[in-house]
Amino acid sequence: MCGIVGYIGKQRAAEIILEGLEKLEYRGYDSAGMAVYDGEKVNVAKAMGRLQVLKEITRGGETVPGHAGIGHTRWATHGEPSNVNSHPHTNKEGTIAVVHNGIIENYISLKKKLKNKGYEFRSETDTEVIPHLLDYYYNGNPLETISKVIQRIEGSYSLGIIFADHPDEIYAARKSSPLIVAKNDNGCFIASDATALLKYTRNVYYIGEEEIAVLTEKGAHFYDSDAEEIEKEEIEIKWDADAAEKGGYEYFMLKEIYEEPKTVRDTLNPRIRDNKVVIDELKMTDEEIRSIGKIHIVACGSAYHTGVTAKYVIEGMARIPVNVDIASEFRYRDPLLDPSDLVIVISQSGETADTKAAIEEAHRKGCQVLAIVNVVGSSIAREADKVMYTWAGPEISVATTKAYSAQLIALYLIALKFASVRGTIDDKQLAAYIHDLRKLPQQIDLLLGEKEKIQKFANRYTAAKDVFFIGRGIDYAISLEGSLKLKEISYVHSEAYAAGELKHGTISLIEEGTLVVAVVTQKDLYDKTISNIREVKARGAFVMAVTNVDNPDIEKAADYAVYIPETDQYFTNSLAVIPLQLFGYYVSLGKGYDVDHPRNLAKSVTVE
Ligand code: GLU
Repeated sequence: MCGIVGYIGKQRAAEIILEGLEKLEYRGYDSAGMAVYDGEKVNVAKAMGRLQVLKEITRGGETVPGHAGIGHTRWATHGEPSNVNSHPHTNKEGTIAVVHNGIIENYISLKKKLKNKGYEFRSETDTEVIPHLLDYYYNGNPLETISKVIQRIEGSYSLGIIFADHPDEIYAARKSSPLIVAKNDNGCFIASDATALLKYTRNVYYIGEEEIAVLTEKGAHFYDSDAEEIEKEEIEIKWDADAAEKGGYEYFMLKEIYEEPKTVRDTLNPRIRDNKVVIDELKMTDEEIRSIGKIHIVACGSAYHTGVTAKYVIEGMARIPVNVDIASEFRYRDPLLDPSDLVIVISQSGETADTKAAIEEAHRKGCQVLAIVNVVGSSIAREADKVMYTWAGPEISVATTKAYSAQLIALYLIALKFASVRGTIDDKQLAAYIHDLRKLPQQIDLLLGEKEKIQKFANRYTAAKDVFFIGRGIDYAISLEGSLKLKEISYVHSEAYAAGELKHGTISLIEEGTLVVAVVTQKDLYDKTISNIREVKARGAFVMAVTNVDNPDIEKAADYAVYIPETDQYFTNSLAVIPLQLFGYYVSLGKGYDVDHPRNLAKSVTVE
C-alpha cells in the first residue's frame, strides 16, 4: 500500500531506489528497505522508521553496491512496524528477495502448508509467504515460478522480485495494487507510482491485472499469468510532477474517495471465509461473545459517526445494547461501565488523544477494549486489548473518506459476527448479508461514475450560507457525516438533524432557498421522512434527496434526487456517504479552497 521502486541498468541501483522512494514519502510509511544484487549475492538493508534511517545505515546506498535492485516503503498491515517485518523478505538462503505492497488474503493457509514442508518464518507479515513459495516452486525459471505463485496467492499485490541466479533481470507482478514499468537509455525501472520515476523517464508501461514483467538493462517483456508473452504499448506521461504525486487527481481527497472500493474490499475480504465472518483479531470465544453485557463505542469526529451507524446495526442485528460516546465526553463523565461490557474505540490515526484516554478509563473500570484503527502499531493499537485494522492505506487528506468507509465495514463485520454467534441471525441471513457486503465495492464504483451529477449540483451551491442534513435512523448517522464533510472543508455552516427533531426548533431557520439534504434510504421510514421533506419545502427549502433506486416517489417530494444502488438497509451508509463526500469536495473546490488542508484542522488530533 505504500511504495515500490526497482531498477536494473548502467547506474547504481541503490541511489535510484533511495531517490525514488523519497518521492513516494508523501504517502506515509513506517519502514523502508532494499535488496541489491552486488555481482555475487543479494544484499538486504532494511530499517524501521524514516527513509533517512535507511540512507544512514547504507551511507546513501554505498554499502549496497550493484546495478539491479528493489526497494520498498512499508505501510504495515500484518505485523507491527519493526526491522524484521520490513521488506524485502527473502527465502532462507537469501537467494530470492521480494518487496510487496498490498495484502495476501490467504497467507494463513499458505503459511501453514509451507511450515509443514519445513519452511521457517522470521516475520509476522503476510508477505513472507511469497519468497518461500517462490523457493518451493523454483525450477530455475523465475518467470514460470512467479506464474505458479501468483496463481496460488489471493488478495492484492504489487511485487518486485530478484533471483540471485538471474542477476541480469528483475521481475514484477501485480493485482489490484498499482505498479508500472518504465525505461530510458540507462536501464529499466519499476515503481508503484510514476512520481518516483519522473526524474528519469516519462515513458511507461502499465502492468495489467495478474500480469508479470521481466526487466533487463535493455527493456521489458510482459507476460500473462500463464507466462505467455503479451505485447504492451509504451505510454508517455504528460502530467507535471505535482499532478503525478496525486496520481493525476487534483487533490488527495478525490484520490482517496476513488480508493474507497479497494479499501472496502481489503477490509472485508480477508475476514470472510466460506460464507462466515472470521475476525481472528477479536480473540474472543463464542462464550465470551455471548456474555457481552453492553457495548460502548467511543470515538471522535467522523469515527464517532461510524459509531452512531453501528449502534443501529449492532442493536438491530445482534440485539446487544450499544451506547455511543464522544471520547472527550466519555473520559470525564465517569461512565457507568461493567466488566462484562465491551468498549470499542475507533480512530484512523490511532493517536487521537481523547480516544486514548477513553481506553484508560475503560481499563480502570475493568472492561476489555477493542480498537478499530488504520495505522498499524499506533498508540491506540498498542494500548487496546484487541485491534482490528481497517486496511485503508495511508490517508493524506485531512477530511477522512476512505478510512471512514473502512471503519463502517469493520463495524458491520463485528455486528454480523456477534449476531451469528448469539443466534440472532441464522446462516441464511448471514449469507445474504455477506452477499450484499461483497457487492459494495462495485456499487461504490457505480456511484463514482456519476460524480459529474454531484459536481453540477455542488457548483450551484457554492454560495450557500446554511445547509441542513436530515434523516432518520441510519440516515441520521449518514447526515451527521455529510454535514461534517461539508463544513470542515468548505466552511459552509451546516447541521445534521434527526428528521423528526427538526420541528422542535430548528425548522425556524428554514427560509426561501435554504438547502436541505434529506437522506432517505431506510424503507420503513420513507413516509416519515417524506413528511419532513414536505414540512421544510412548505417553508421554502430546496431539497436534495439521497435515496434508494426503488424510491421514485421521492421525485414528487424533493427537488433533486441522487440514487444509490440496492443494498441491505443496514449497509446504505456505505453508499449514501459517497455522494455526500463528493458534495463536500466539490463545494470546497468550487470556492477555491485547499481541499486537503482545511483551515484550523489537523489530520490526527493528538492533543485535548
Ligand atoms: N502486507 C504487507 C505487510 O504488512 C505489505 C504492506 C505494504 O503494502 O506496505 O508487510
